[in-house]
Amino acid sequence: MRLLLATNNAHKAREIREILGDSFSELLTMREAGVDLEVEEDGSTFQENALKKAQETLAFVGDRFDAVLADDSGLCVDALDGAPGVYSARFSGEGHNDAANNAKLISLLADVPDELRTARFCCSVALARKDAEPIVVLGEVEGTILHEARGENGFGYDPYFFYAPFQKSFAELTAEEKNSVSHRKRALFKLKEALDVEHRSHL
Ligand code: IMP
Repeated sequence: MRLLLATNNAHKAREIREILGDSFSELLTMREAGVDLEVEEDGSTFQENALKKAQETLAFVGDRFDAVLADDSGLCVDALDGAPGVYSARFSGEGHNDAANNAKLISLLADVPDELRTARFCCSVALARKDAEPIVVLGEVEGTILHEARGENGFGYDPYFFYAPFQKSFAELTAEEKNSVSHRKRALFKLKEALDVEHRSHL
């Protein structure tokens, strides 16, 4: 089965290959496949956005691929009623970037005490298939939002996301440590589990 990954992010592609490599005969990124398509992420949930991206990309590539995998992720903060959520990348509005997004997050939480600064990173992964129903899964990792940035690694909201089991922010973790517990990893494993269950039921 030929799978197209609706991403050009090399890091995501490597992670997907490591986990799902055995389930597909061929896995290509959009760039590797020469596919250029921007799908508007206008859903109200991570699942809606991931599924829309996977389905529209599959319709676009026609018979070249049997399936398309897409993901959508972000940070949900309880004290902000789940914001920034699906708006995580563009939280600070026009000209958004990680620094501006983090500055907005921290200023909104300025008066929120430690015990109410709970949050989670969420990642939905959707697999759209030509000859089967789509599979949509959600992976989550729980943490709390720090008052000050810690660490230099990672990206996005990582410097402010404190992960209690390691007593470190996500930006203080090595790539291996973060990948071992990340929302994306958890979603990808859920997808692999669903595919394995399907496979076993067809034997
Ligand atoms: P995407 O859907 O993977 O492109 O992620 C959307 C946005 O969510 C990113 O631009 C980040 O702001 C935020 N985000 C998603 N995953 C992470 C993460 O692992 N660490 C920090 N920020 C993240």
